[in-house]
Parts: sequence; C-alpha cells; structure tokens
Amino acid sequence: MAREPRVVIIGAGMSGIAIGVTLKKAGFHDFTVLEKGSRVGGVWHWNTYPGLTCDVPSLLYRYTFAGKPDWAHFFAKGPDIQRYHEDVAREHDLTGHIRLNTEVTGARFENERWHVETADGTRFEADFLVAATGILHHPRVPDILGMADFDGPLFHTARWDHQVDPRGKRVAVIGTGSTGVQLTTALQPLAKQFSLFQRTAQWVIPAPTRLPQPAALSTLLRQAPRLNQAIFDASLLASRVLTDITLAPGPARTLAQAYARASLRLIRNRRLRAKLTPDYEPFCKRQVVSGEFFRAVQRKNVSVVTDAIERIVPEGIRTADGTVHEFDIIALATGFQAHNYMRPMRLTGREGTTIDEAWENGTFAYRMTAIPGFPNFFTVLGPNSPIGSVHLQYTAEHTGRYIISFLRRFRRGELTTAEVTEAATKEFNEQVRAAIGPTVWNTGCQSWYLDDRGTVDLWPFDRKTLTRMLREPDPEHYTVTV
Ligand code: NAP
Repeated sequence: MAREPRVVIIGAGMSGIAIGVTLKKAGFHDFTVLEKGSRVGGVWHWNTYPGLTCDVPSLLYRYTFAGKPDWAHFFAKGPDIQRYHEDVAREHDLTGHIRLNTEVTGARFENERWHVETADGTRFEADFLVAATGILHHPRVPDILGMADFDGPLFHTARWDHQVDPRGKRVAVIGTGSTGVQLTTALQPLAKQFSLFQRTAQWVIPAPTRLPQPAALSTLLRQAPRLNQAIFDASLLASRVLTDITLAPGPARTLAQAYARASLRLIRNRRLRAKLTPDYEPFCKRQVVSGEFFRAVQRKNVSVVTDAIERIVPEGIRTADGTVHEFDIIALATGFQAHNYMRPMRLTGREGTTIDEAWENGTFAYRMTAIPGFPNFFTVLGPNSPIGSVHLQYTAEHTGRYIISFLRRFRRGELTTAEVTEAATKEFNEQVRAAIGPTVWNTGCQSWYLDDRGTVDLWPFDRKTLTRMLREPDPEHYTVTV
C-alpha cells in the first residue's frame, strides 16, 4: 500500500532547516517543523551577545545547497548568520511548514505512529519524528553560591540582556571558552574595567576573525556562482585538516599545536602569559579562535582572575583568597549542557521505554541518528556528532538523505516502521570507543566534549567514513514492519 509519510521535525535551527529543505528537494512535502523560539536559527537566534562571530570561515559555514557570496566578513557576525538562516528558510518555502513558539514537551510511539505534545496543548501525529534539537541549546548556569544576592544584572550569555549598557561599567565575565573570549574582545573597549574569571586556561589560535570581506570579492562571487561553489568545494576538502589534527597524532597535529604554543608569545607580560598557559594539549577542548583576544587581554582595564570563585555577593564576586571584586554587570559565559539533546522532552518509545531509561548509562545513537526501542525516530547531530571536526551542515544534510531512504520505502509500502537493532548499535558504539583512543579530545582535559562519565561524545572518524555510513541504511541493521 503506497502512502505519503507524515513527518514532524523538532527544531528550526541549522539542522532543522537542513532537514526541511532536504525533504522538499526529495519531493516530501507533508512535514511540520515545531520550533520553541520566536524565530528560526537555533543558536544564532538565542545567542545575541556582543562580539558574537562564527569562528568558522563564512565561505564554509553554509549549507551545500545555499551559497552566500556576499558575507560582510570572512568570519561572519552572529546577526548576519541569523539572517542567512531566515533567508534560506524563506527562499526554500519552509516558512509555511514552520510553527514558531511551539515547544515540544513529549512524544510517544503508539500504534505505529508518533504522538507529539506541545507546551500549549496542541497535539501532532506523525509517521516519522526527527529531533533536530541542537547541542548548544540549554545554558549551563553554574551552581555558584549567592547568585541571587548580586545587586546588578547577572545573566547567561545565551540570554543576553540588551537593556544593560556595558559602557563605562565594571564588567565581569565568568568562563573562557569561545564565548568568553569573544566577549572579552567586544566588551574590553567599552567597559571601564573588565575582569575575566578563568577556571582553566584555554588555547587561543589567532586568525583574522574581524577581517571584512571586500565588496569587490562579493560582487565577483555573486557574478560567478561557479567560482563561489569551487571555493566552497575546495574549502570543504581543506577542512579535512581539522580531522587530521584531531583524530590521531601526526604532522598536522604537531604543527597546529606548535602554532598554538607559539601564539602565546603574543602575550608580553610573563606573569599574564603564565596565567593564560594551559596545562593540557592544544585542541583537546573545543579550540578557541580569535584575532583580537591577546590584544584585548593585555589592555590596562583588563584583569584575568584565576583565584577560585567562592561566592557572589551584592557588590560582585568574592574569591577564595577573600578579595571582593566589585562589579556592575556579571555575565556567565559558562557554556551549555551539551549532552541533553532532545531532553527534557519526555520521549517514550516502543513498549513504554523512555529516552532517560534508554540513556541511563550515557547517550548513544547508531551512526548519530537511530536508537533501539525508538522506531521511526531519528536525531540530527545527535550523540557522537562531529562537532569540531567535520562540516556540520554537510553532516545534517547527509543525515537528512539517510532518513529519506526510510521515507521512500514507507511511501512505496515496503515498511511501516523501522528500528535499528541492538546488535548494530552495539557494534557501532564499539567502533566509536576504539577510534576515540588516539583522538586529541582524549588527551586529558575537561571539556563539554565529555559527558558526565568522562566519555568523549564526538565523531572519531573522517568525513569519508561519515558519508559512507550515511549513504544507505544497511537492511541488516534494522528491523522493519510492513
Ligand atoms: P564552554 O566552551 O563550555 O566554556 C565554558 C567556560 O565556563 C569554561 O571556561 C569553563 O571553565 C567555565 N566555567 C563553567 N562553569 C564554571 C564555574 N562554575 N566557575 C568558573 N568557570 C566556569 O562554553 P562557550 O564558551 O559558551 O562555548 C561553547 C561552545 O559554543 C564552543 O566550544 C563552540 O563550539 C560554540 N561557540 C562557537 C562560537 C563560534 O564562533 N563558532 C562562538 C561561541 C561559542 P572550565 O574550562 O574550567 O570548565
């Protein structure tokens, strides 16, 4: 019996848009994208902090199907990337499929269909459910004593309060990841006094992150789409260097790490340099890239505080040595709960198993996308995704095509449900575990790449392997009902 699959996609961020467009291109139009935010864009919608920039070159940070020739900068600013996502959604006629301000609270697999619940009580039914819920999604608000006592504004960077004007103020930023570093470069020139609270030093690699893209280049690329595409294709090939650096020791890793170490020489003051020198290998944590950080951090109005934070007090932050550092504004650049995936959504699979039960001993998914016990359910950029080593849009689009293989079979009446087997998942997880061994992420540092058990939750293979694994579902790895 032939029929049209009905699909619900959760999330209209980068990967939700990728799936929507991929479905449309393959001729599947019966889908709805549920998005809890008031706009599409995911992280680019939620993050609006000063200095927000993408540290992946703009000519590469794009969908394979939607080239943008006229970025304002070689490393695009947050608002420009947000606009790009909105443009892609509009130009590919996704807008009519997307329901904004619609938070999914639960989904249950019953009678061979998914029953989706939302916060406002609206219910949706679908043959297939796709969680494109992102990774850097739930702010990690640290458990620091006295946070409610502070007299001034205190907020997480992913919920930036634009009513607050940092000009001429005493500003503290807690956290030295990519966000803390970008904030330092943006706020240091505005603030009267700026303090960066550093628990662990970060390796920072200089790159021209503020370089404008010349208008003449934008005109040229607009007029020569083939050249624009060729640059993208070449950059995608060249981005392999990141895989070479991260997956196994070798010349690429040695050179890149030497560059990171040499870059520390840009800090002239020895005491400051010592403070900012990490005690683990470069690239172990998500690598921070900035062309401005070393300049900003050496300015007179900046201090890097490495004493442990004891508590927040009405005047500011008290450190373990008893000093009270006084501030007008405190921003928490403390990152995200990266291993939540679609949770806290109540996801209930076949036979009443919840996702919390399935993931009791840690998150996992066969080839980043399928979970035993959860038929016709797929994650996009789910567990073990290649954040930090393989092009993310490429990965999301390939996952979309993989999912479409099931939709085609459903349409032809060849299957009603498909569920990955325990055995295939176990085998994949074992391959991952073995391949994680020589990666740089496993060389002894604390980072959001690790889950609470200290397991690296990343893709330890190259893009070629990813492409092969997502080319076609292996029939032996799935149990289907017709
Ligand atoms: P992050 O990399 O997880 O960094 C969080 C920082 O907060 C770390 O320095 C951490 O210290 C510190 N921290 C956490 N809890 C703390 C506590 N209780 N007391 C003191 N310090 C504490 O978070 P992020 O900077 O928001 O970046 C997350 C990811 O977002 C990045 O790695 C990147 O993938 C993405 N991002 C990308 C861009 C871009 O340009 N493409 C920009 C921003 C963010 P420890 O190191 O000691 O844990």
